[in-house]
Amino acid sequence: MANTEKSFKKHYLPASAADYVPRHFLESVQLQRLQDVVQHAYHNQAGGLYRQRMDEAKVRPDAIRSLNDIQQFPFMTKDDLRASYPYGLFAVPQQEVVRIHASSGTTGKPIVAGYTQADLDVWADSMARCMGAASLSSHDVIQVSYGYGLFTGGLGAHCGAEKIGAMVVPTSAGNTERQIMLMQDLGVTAICCTPSYFLHLAEKAGEMGVQLKNLKIRAGIFGAEPWSEAMRERIQNETWIKAHDIYGLTEIIGPGVAIECAEQNGLHILEDYYYPEIIDPETLQPLPDGEEGELVITTLAKRAMPMIRYRTRDITSIMADQCYCGRTIRRIRRIGRRSDDMLIIRGVNVYPSQIEAALLKIDGLLPHYQIVITRESGLDNMEIKVELAPELFGDRIQELESLQKRIAHAVNTTLNISAKITFAEPKSIARSEGKAKRVIDKRG
Ligand code: ADP
Ligand code: ZN
Repeated sequence: MANTEKSFKKHYLPASAADYVPRHFLESVQLQRLQDVVQHAYHNQAGGLYRQRMDEAKVRPDAIRSLNDIQQFPFMTKDDLRASYPYGLFAVPQQEVVRIHASSGTTGKPIVAGYTQADLDVWADSMARCMGAASLSSHDVIQVSYGYGLFTGGLGAHCGAEKIGAMVVPTSAGNTERQIMLMQDLGVTAICCTPSYFLHLAEKAGEMGVQLKNLKIRAGIFGAEPWSEAMRERIQNETWIKAHDIYGLTEIIGPGVAIECAEQNGLHILEDYYYPEIIDPETLQPLPDGEEGELVITTLAKRAMPMIRYRTRDITSIMADQCYCGRTIRRIRRIGRRSDDMLIIRGVNVYPSQIEAALLKIDGLLPHYQIVITRESGLDNMEIKVELAPELFGDRIQELESLQKRIAHAVNTTLNISAKITFAEPKSIARSEGKAKRVIDKRG
């Protein structure tokens, strides 16, 4: 057969060799790239923030002799990005920047990220490797239902899917009924979106009389927001797809920083591009493998906006033991929470993901919920609005009361705090097309 583009693409290896290199080789590549990125940031970044910070910390850009030397360097935070809005952190002339993205701004004013063509290649390669880890290849038809635009999800997944030679269906988010029609008609085999949007899509499909189980779809690449193991089980049992957790952030590149392989036990971080450290968020001291703390990432191959020791605020730990899949790049544990999404309710630290896990232990509850916090005469109150499945909604008062008690008990035993449980009618809690908004904090 002629070596047409398509027949060539069919031979694309879904997994990249970079995921399997011996550790000592990987580490020598990391070291060279680290030396390079630190020099690049020091000398070329227009706003001079890196130079200023390194000078203040009395650390020279040639201080990197071993990987651990990175620990002498100062951190970068989201505030630094905001302060240098929009272009202050760029380290290449503006004419070399070919694309801009911005964070969704869920946590404040957006931050802007710039990419050179080479950066976009690194990103597409990252997403392609992630898709390979999720067993996708040129045989797949991949629907990208992350939003396209300034948000990194849509275009990030799109370019990775093209790179593996898959057929891409770029639906973006929204217009859910049409998404389901296309999914059926085009024989979609995999979908990329937020887990909350996928739930919405599955629910809508049910209303339309479409069983996702009976379609060709077999994999989901879900990320951009935290979701629990209980949520994964629900999704997999109800739709018969394999649900992979993918992680990424605009400041570092977008989606494609880390993903679960078939083992679904921790996310392989593409360490040759994104160098991970875990620190204690209070003392800022490095923590050993296995210990939970804040993930700090240094980009090893990004030119337009290099990030050195970026504090992600995401809480995880590094799993250093070798994965059964054979990849030598290490894994990070699933990210259930950010250090800044912690709610303090009557002095108790509460993470929305803990509430989700408690709710989903109970049969008959839909994974649609909202947490409303108020303060009355100085006292915090937490209300959890939980949507009921339609078949439960008609139940007698006594049955609902007993369900309410069971939920309150589950929340209380998980979080050690009491909450008022209210039921919402089926479909009454707003469905998200992107990141779900779970918490409404009215305490001001
Ligand atoms: P914003 O901060 O405006 O939401 P991003 O769209 O770049 O900007 O979101 C990145 C953040 O989303 C991450 O720092 C992390 O908190 C969260 N996130 C992304 N993927 C996941 C995931 N798989 N699990 C948990 N949280 C995630
Ligand atoms: Zn693995």
